Amino acid sequence: MSLEKVPVTIVTGFLGAGKTTLIRHLMRNPQGRRLAVLVNEFGDVGVDGDLIRACADADCPESNIVELTNGCICCTVADEFIPTIEKLMALEPRPDHILIETSGLALPKPLLKAFDWPGLRSRITIDGVVAVADAEAVAAGRFAPDEENPGEAGEAGADHETPLSEVFEDQIACADLVLLSKADLAGEEGVAAARQIILAEAPRPLSILPIHEGEIDPRVVLGIGAAAEADLAARPSHHDGEDEHDHEDFDTAIIEIPEQKDPQALAAKVEALARTQKILRVKGHVAVEGKPLRLLIQAVGPRVRHQFDRPWGASPRQGRLVVIAEKADLDVDALRAALA
Ligand SMILES: [Zn+2]
Repeated sequence: MSLEKVPVTIVTGFLGAGKTTLIRHLMRNPQGRRLAVLVNEFGDVGVDGDLIRACADADCPESNIVELTNGCICCTVADEFIPTIEKLMALEPRPDHILIETSGLALPKPLLKAFDWPGLRSRITIDGVVAVADAEAVAAGRFAPDEENPGEAGEAGADHETPLSEVFEDQIACADLVLLSKADLAGEEGVAAARQIILAEAPRPLSILPIHEGEIDPRVVLGIGAAAEADLAARPSHHDGEDEHDHEDFDTAIIEIPEQKDPQALAAKVEALARTQKILRVKGHVAVEGKPLRLLIQAVGPRVRHQFDRPWGASPRQGRLVVIAEKADLDVDALRAALA
């Protein structure tokens, strides 16, 4: 058994920022490393896990890919996360590097703390925390605190934070590297604006790099050597000093979707919904008449992408979309009426 610590890279970032795309890119370019991947999704439709398993190969076989769908990884640290990491560490041969994709709502700090536990600390080190941020959304101020509506007087942390701004700030505050995704959509000005917003938010100097379709030299992402578990004080969180946190501001709905005639028409419906109902994220698979392949739908706000991915095989051709929004914005009946 090697006594060298296994490096772990934590990939954080808000819903739809492009974390899975980045992980897939790293899996395709492992630099001779044997990888293991832990993926966590907020809604239990398992889209990200599917996309990642599709990249399994000799350097990262399916046995090295684990999906945790039972809520946010940050809330299940002791019950699920640590046992899963132990399982990955017990693989033969042992992985050279572990990638963790957190759910878009997960707070990275509770995970970092888990690695500070004696049982893990001697065998694992956090090589780096990488935050993926949607350049266009950041530049548009979608994660900005609400200056108009201060929280209730006297309430802890009532400093204009919104549920979105709070998660975003926690993710940036934990990061060693920020990757600005969808830089092409944001344009040069958008990228510059996003960079300013992130630098103003970051508690310490940070590298910020634009990426397109998850593509970046893996040597930039892997091998940072941050040892973040030993550096927790430099990574402030809105929840420091609290024993527990919750994600009650956000909610998920799963909508069953009947077989569709036209993917474009469904995409247009999803886009319209995002505009009328402030939906943050839609993803899932849908059946299309006469097509043996599943249609994968992924939307971030009003940006909808769809493509056929793989055959339904033995599973029933039942379409299902998971929709994530702030609780106050999620009207399940209206969603069902519009989509089903
Ligand atoms: Zn949590």
